[in-house]
Amino acid sequence: MDLGTNHTLRRLVKTGIASALNWSGTDRLLDGPDLLIRRPVVLCYHRTVEDFAAGASQSLPSMLTSRAMLERHLDCLGRRFDFVSLDDLGAWLEGKKHFARSAAAVTFDDGYADFYHHAFPLLQRKGIPAAVFVPTDLAGTSALQIHDRLFLLLARAFERWGYRSAVGFVRSYLDRGKPAAYAQRIGFDEWTPPNAVSSLLGSLPQDEVHRLIETLETEIEIGPEAWNAHRALTWEMIVAMHRAGVTVGSHTKTHVELTNEKPQTILDEIQGSRSELERRLGTEVTHIAYPDGQFNAAVVQAAAACGYRFGYTTCRHRDARHPLLTIPRILLWENSCLDARGDFSPAIFKCLVRGLFPFTDNCLRDHRRTNGNGFDL
Ligand SMILES: [Zn+2]
Ligand SMILES: [Zn+2]
Repeated sequence: MDLGTNHTLRRLVKTGIASALNWSGTDRLLDGPDLLIRRPVVLCYHRTVEDFAAGASQSLPSMLTSRAMLERHLDCLGRRFDFVSLDDLGAWLEGKKHFARSAAAVTFDDGYADFYHHAFPLLQRKGIPAAVFVPTDLAGTSALQIHDRLFLLLARAFERWGYRSAVGFVRSYLDRGKPAAYAQRIGFDEWTPPNAVSSLLGSLPQDEVHRLIETLETEIEIGPEAWNAHRALTWEMIVAMHRAGVTVGSHTKTHVELTNEKPQTILDEIQGSRSELERRLGTEVTHIAYPDGQFNAAVVQAAAACGYRFGYTTCRHRDARHPLLTIPRILLWENSCLDARGDFSPAIFKCLVRGLFPFTDNCLRDHRRTNGNGFDL
């Protein structure tokens, strides 16, 4: 979610590496029948919108991909990969299936209604299987996702009060009788609304984030247009897409960052969402994507105990005891594959898909650690 100088630098480095591979002809190796090509890839998107610039003015930009950019990504990928469903990918990972060509699966997190309106028709037209991961308590409601609510409040606070006062408001909230560990874990340097959201959600248990949100809401209001832009899928949409072949998986009940929570909450979130999906869809649910890709040994064990067979992250780290419950995905959005001029670059897309940019997966989390709040899991 870092936008700015760091982002520009990354774009230049990406362009440089992709151009060097292209110039030397090395990129052709990536298309050839070598070992690299055998590794399937799983892509992870969030929202699909008609107009990226309009969407980015009132949303977390790194959640958005325009329908036109999504189509470019899919066309680029389809030249070298066969698109497969997550069930087929799972069968391959379990050694029960063989793919003639490299396989790619496309997934969408968070269950926004814009998946139904913009991505689903495109995927159907192209005959591409896909999966959507749904936070079940939000489906069919007009509630905002916790990250959108926090982002919209912080963006308005930064705009209205300025950087110092907005950060000061959050700091003073955390100083009022909260465990000192909270403020220590949160890096307040160079806060922007997007990285403040990431920092707060990654550091605090969800009930604490809700209390902070309610405190911000005593001062700031989120307008109705913003609520409309972030609508969740209805159950009718989810059932219709499932009948049309879309895989529906769990994304917990409330989009909770599981590694910040107590064991009972973890179990309730992942078991409860599975039961709800199975009841609504009348089928077994075996796939879960951990919100924000956050997992640790306790979360993975809980997913296994609740009957999930496949779990999806957003980094390269695996749990050696449960590799199928820690399947890496490549996180993509509108600006992931732009060159230094700001144009979509098929060469950069190819390098990203092949995992050739180590800095795009700079996960520093210790996934063995029991829990962010020191709960003994
Ligand atoms: Zn999510
Ligand atoms: Zn990681």
